[in-house]
Amino acid sequence: MIRISQIKLPVNHTEEQLKNKIAKILRCGSLDFSYEIKKQSLDARHKEDKKFVYTVDVAMRDNRAESKILRKVHDNNIMLTEEKPYCFPEPGEEFLAHRPVVVGSGPAGLFCAWYLARAGYRPLVLERGEEASKRQQTVERFWQNGILDPDSNVQFGEGGAGTFSDGKLNTLVKDPFGRNQEVLKRFVEAGAPGEILYQQKPHLGTDVLVQIVETMRHQIEEMGGTFRFRTKVTDLIFRENALKAVEINGEEQIPAVVCVLAVGHSARDTFEMLNRKGIYMEPKSFAVGLRIEHPQTMMNLALYGEEENTFLGAASYKVTHTCKNGRGVYSFCMCPGGYVVNASSEPDMLAVNGMSYQARDSRNANSAMIVTVTPQDFPEEGPLGGVAFQRELERAAWKAGQGKVPVQLFGDYQKQVPSTELGDVVPCIKGAYTLTDVRGILPKEVGDSIEEGILAFGKKIPGFDRPDALLGGVESRTSSPLRIVRDKDLLQANLEGIYPCGEGAGYAGGITSAAMDGIKTAEAISKKFRNF
Ligand SMILES: Cc1cc2nc3c(=O)[nH]c(=O)nc-3n(C[C@H](O)[C@H](O)[C@H](O)COP(=O)(O)OP(=O)(O)OC[C@H]3O[C@@H](n4cnc5c(N)ncnc54)[C@H](O)[C@@H]3O)c2cc1C
Repeated sequence: MIRISQIKLPVNHTEEQLKNKIAKILRCGSLDFSYEIKKQSLDARHKEDKKFVYTVDVAMRDNRAESKILRKVHDNNIMLTEEKPYCFPEPGEEFLAHRPVVVGSGPAGLFCAWYLARAGYRPLVLERGEEASKRQQTVERFWQNGILDPDSNVQFGEGGAGTFSDGKLNTLVKDPFGRNQEVLKRFVEAGAPGEILYQQKPHLGTDVLVQIVETMRHQIEEMGGTFRFRTKVTDLIFRENALKAVEINGEEQIPAVVCVLAVGHSARDTFEMLNRKGIYMEPKSFAVGLRIEHPQTMMNLALYGEEENTFLGAASYKVTHTCKNGRGVYSFCMCPGGYVVNASSEPDMLAVNGMSYQARDSRNANSAMIVTVTPQDFPEEGPLGGVAFQRELERAAWKAGQGKVPVQLFGDYQKQVPSTELGDVVPCIKGAYTLTDVRGILPKEVGDSIEEGILAFGKKIPGFDRPDALLGGVESRTSSPLRIVRDKDLLQANLEGIYPCGEGAGYAGGITSAAMDGIKTAEAISKKFRNF
């Protein structure tokens, strides 16, 4: 296979033009080969001449032509390549008395169950929330009338926290084993568009994600897996430090010797239970802040040089700033053409996040403006200190908005006065909102850092610090506030049979890296146990 990189074409190019460009580079006929796009990225540095940059793998119809071409064409961007396929390990020897239990059907649990099912382990997936389509109705009802279901909401339910999201699939996790591509391939097999396999910033809006998680569930069931919804794991039963059973909904016990804890970053009651059971956990740094909204056309103009571009869609940004006080402020989970969502999961507490649909066609761009916090910032010591910190902020946010999403204009935020009327930017929020004082929710140093950061970003993106930009809060669920300690090779916790996995356990941040950790955990179980 010949790999060619750095192929540049205008963003409105046709497929034909790409094929002809490859033929020209290889000095051969366009019928002499087939090709596969491996990477596509956008170069928008020259706004009047924006380009897509490609890496493609080319298979010559006549294999012998490959070496002839490489002798003829001397270019550092052209080389022979051979892809190493992903390989799931062979089953181990140890007898597995009961089917493995997977707690949570977010990306980590879902992918762990998918690979265990395909390898013949017949996993049992226990999910406290509802299946995706019912959950969607429950969440829409919450956004309409504010009635929260603490077990089925934006954080909990089939597909996990990632289902109501912008569905950004890019990850910074290094991956020598090919698990990243495996995740994307599974998504495509379950109905995602093929472009996600090569786009620099692939994304699957909420409307697409709901269908994908349901399809993956059906695939797992066909391969021998089972799902139980409205099924919360409330206790773990151990004998001589080894798992014997899991308790669900405070009553039924299910015999188990393997339990994957893929419970996500918001399973606070479950973290409290694990702490009581003596599972080693430690507090972990994460980040908190507010979600900022701007008109999407303003962002397109700043980043593309035009208010709209049908080939590129809504523009996205990533900004960072180091404050005088030494803290870092950065944009997180940016949602172009998206919505701010009420992402709460506990009564009288309010947390926000962002989502978008596949089309990314709302009038606003939003992202979280967040500041790193460490265990030193937490109100109490111990593994649950970060949870206590989050709850403090979310109670303050709930109070500030009286149960609605509290919103403040940046100008008022700077003057430290509550907002009373909007400017030109009109909120795009899922859930009721109210204009008030948002700055007061945050610890002073965090609030000050965000002001300094937004002013700094205004120098990079014109209008970012406009006085009518909107700030909604509180963004407190950026990643897990703790880590469940696990052995780095066996991936087991300090008590036998427990496999902490995904974002909640502190080993992932985002949909793709959580799914990759799910695959990794399935591999660890397979290496140890015989399948059925
Ligand atoms: C609104 C929103 C938007 C986001 N946008 C993006 C994005 O665009 N791109 C991105 O990469 N990431 C995004 N994220 C983050 C991403 O969703 C998470 O990183 C990812 O879902 C973590 O996967 P996970 O499987 O580890 O945990 P989760 O997805 O949180 O899943 C955990 C599951 O466990 C279940 N559970 C918890 N406790 C129990 C119990 N005791 N018994 C049974 N079940 C239990 C929960 O109900 C939940 O379904 C977003 C998150 C939110 C909330």
